Amino acid sequence: MIINFWGNLPALLRYPFRGLHRVEYELSRQASVKDIVESFGIPHTEVGRLTSNGRDISFSWPGAGADSLDVYPFCPPVDVLTPTLLRPESLAGITFAVDVNVGKLASLLRLAGFDTFYQNYIADPALIEVAGREQRIVLSRDKGLLKRKELVFGYLVREIYPEKQLTEVVHLFGLKELMQPFSRCMRCNGLLQVVAKEQISDRLEPLTKKYYNFFQQCRHCRQIYWPGSHRDKLLSLLSKCHTQNLDTAQ
Ligand SMILES: [Zn+2]
Repeated sequence: MIINFWGNLPALLRYPFRGLHRVEYELSRQASVKDIVESFGIPHTEVGRLTSNGRDISFSWPGAGADSLDVYPFCPPVDVLTPTLLRPESLAGITFAVDVNVGKLASLLRLAGFDTFYQNYIADPALIEVAGREQRIVLSRDKGLLKRKELVFGYLVREIYPEKQLTEVVHLFGLKELMQPFSRCMRCNGLLQVVAKEQISDRLEPLTKKYYNFFQQCRHCRQIYWPGSHRDKLLSLLSKCHTQNLDTAQ
């Protein structure tokens, strides 16, 4: 059988196939197409569409007897809310569960207003369990984690720097119109509410109390936020998500 890997998928292939667009595969045992694709090093979460001899197929399709298999990446914007042949159980909303290897990305997603689960030192099975129970998209740089069969929606983050990772995720899932900056706590993911200065003045440093009059407080952990000098930098970062056009998931 001939397997064609399209778009950016050849870069994910394991040695010695890395970079190849077309490989020959000899089916020596009964294997689902999902197993075949993952045996080449590509987590199932990175596959947006599968066809064989021109027909769309699902992950469970048995590869036996087929002449060709075409494996496509996702095309942004990825719609996780509509059922597809590969993922009949679509999501009800766009929320994330972020792996420890992209922890700073979790803070930035929260800053942009997206519901994001993140815990330091959480074990892989626990992260997958939370993602399944709460219907979250797992973001990680760990291919092994994204190959876990219980996982339905995930994404292998390619960029190294957190700011670029945010742009990458916003672009892939088409989130730029859904951003709600400064609506969510960067520390715990709780929603922020406006709070009167008098109510929290005993917790403010003298200079903060002197120069600022608008405050928000996390409903969950009670962390206080105000528009300090870093706010402009963060807004500038989020505005880049509107203008930058990445081709990481083409
Ligand atoms: Zn909080």
